[in-house]
Amino acid sequence: MRFSKLFAPTTKEAPKDAVLPSHIYLVRGAFIAQIGSGIYNFLPLGNIVLQKIRAIVKEELDKAGCQEVLLGFVTPSELWRESGRYSKFGKELLRFRDRKENEFVLGPTHEEAMVDLVRNRVRSYKQLPLNLYQINTKFRDEARPRYGLLRGREFLMKDGYSFHESVEDMQREYALMEKTYSTILERLGLDFRVVEADSGAIGGSGSKEFMVLADNGEDDIVICKSCDYAANVEAAVAKDEFVPDDEVEMSSGDFHTPDVSSIEDLSNFFKIGKAYLVKAVAKKAIYEDREEIVIFFIRGDRELQETKAQNSVDALELEDIGDEELEKAGVPVGFIGPDIEGFKIVVDETLKDRDNLICGANRKDYHTIGYSFKDKAFDFADLSLVQAGDKCAKCGGELEIKKGIEVGHIFQLGTKYSEALNATFLDREGKAKPFVMGTYGIGVSRLVAVVIEQHHDEKGCIWSEATAPFKFDIIISNRKDSEQLAFATKLYEEMQEAGLSVILDDRDERFGYKMGDFELIGFSYAIIVGKSLKEGEVEIVKRAGLERERVPVNEVMQKIREL
Ligand code: ATP
Ligand code: MG
Repeated sequence: MRFSKLFAPTTKEAPKDAVLPSHIYLVRGAFIAQIGSGIYNFLPLGNIVLQKIRAIVKEELDKAGCQEVLLGFVTPSELWRESGRYSKFGKELLRFRDRKENEFVLGPTHEEAMVDLVRNRVRSYKQLPLNLYQINTKFRDEARPRYGLLRGREFLMKDGYSFHESVEDMQREYALMEKTYSTILERLGLDFRVVEADSGAIGGSGSKEFMVLADNGEDDIVICKSCDYAANVEAAVAKDEFVPDDEVEMSSGDFHTPDVSSIEDLSNFFKIGKAYLVKAVAKKAIYEDREEIVIFFIRGDRELQETKAQNSVDALELEDIGDEELEKAGVPVGFIGPDIEGFKIVVDETLKDRDNLICGANRKDYHTIGYSFKDKAFDFADLSLVQAGDKCAKCGGELEIKKGIEVGHIFQLGTKYSEALNATFLDREGKAKPFVMGTYGIGVSRLVAVVIEQHHDEKGCIWSEATAPFKFDIIISNRKDSEQLAFATKLYEEMQEAGLSVILDDRDERFGYKMGDFELIGFSYAIIVGKSLKEGEVEIVKRAGLERERVPVNEVMQKIREL
């Protein structure tokens, strides 16, 4: 490729809303251009990187025995009604009608469509297992599209679906996909962790996420310093080491506590540890057809984990509610206790069977002391947020929290969709059975940004070996110098002939400008053909670290081959 012919309008200006390096550099480096909220066009450089990542994903999946298909991006709503997700998926699902008033959705994920493809076509256990995938555009009407390619509305995803005769066979494939995804991310040069995850709206039993470690990640991941335990904070559990002190003995009854309502104030007022206090958190749970106030009770020394709380009441979403609205609904804000009536209640597991507790008395300015959960028939669930310094449930080691970006997610799906869509096969006994399924996703376009989020400096992108749009950038320092031009062109042709990934910066621009583009775009090496050519040397600059090295012209080709 000659740079003079390349459509790469790099710029000094970053988009106004861009805060993350990947967003800034991908736009400035002319990889992508925004066309609408959460919708991006890929320019030639961006497309080269995207296709490179796509090819690696495909190569590893094909090696693992998966088969590529391509489903319609537009899916008839009927299929989504059959699974029950049409109404459940919420506003991320874009619904529309055609001229004949038929209803459709823009596929945000393709469980329904893939089950439909297989049902009535795979009829016997003899045709199983089967793992089908596509690398296709997805649309999700995200509430807050942001961070460039990291959270778009339209994006490229690899989504795979496997079909099995038994849970054991699905789990074998699930393990194979974990290995395959790990190999893909290793090849891309990413530092990542595989973590236990919450299964969210897709449903099913076990699931794992692939998290690339990055300071700007949106996800908190809990990692054990001593063993291999790692989990998304939405699914993480810690060992609860708190043992109530036998000496603590409370009388029971209501106590006047004027203006004392925060956990901090209560702890000081009663001169007692926060673990003896019961904290109430009220939220609005949003369902398909209604909304409802739910009150969660957790130990005073813990925080509520929203996803766990949402799962415990099977809501589509949880929203915060203001004090005013709560009071209007009859909630004694600041003094809420578990015996409150008329609201749905969920209590954290760590409070089960505890007594000698202090909680709200459900009337203004009063708290109940000596409260007991013994023999109480509440709904108990794990609601606690795991925090840094907590102890690992597996080995007792210390847990730490790191930031991660989710790039992949694998699920043990089971029969949820095959049952809903009545997709069955004949088993070894000749009986009709629903397929046991697994589902596996990788964010292909998100990965373009993730590579840069993990590898950049203050000048621009630093692509990994496998993702660099071109590996070598031959920069002609002064195009008017015929000697430089001739040498660089000859080197370029020789490298092309040798099948090397090379671009020749033959533009009629200042040297500094070309160097700036090299640093911004992030080719792996620059070969500078400049003044030193007179002394029989060129300069090679490595993008990662920007180290420079002079190389005699007769050794250049060999040096390049070594790199
Ligand atoms: P997130 O929690 O980041 O919204 P998700 O749990 O909704 O992700 P999945 O439904 O598991 O994601 O989709 C599989 C993969 O698709 C994700 O691991 C991610 O890499 C990618 N992905 C999901 N949403 C987006 C998006 N809005 N923009 C770009 N990639 C996305
Ligand atoms: Mg999402």
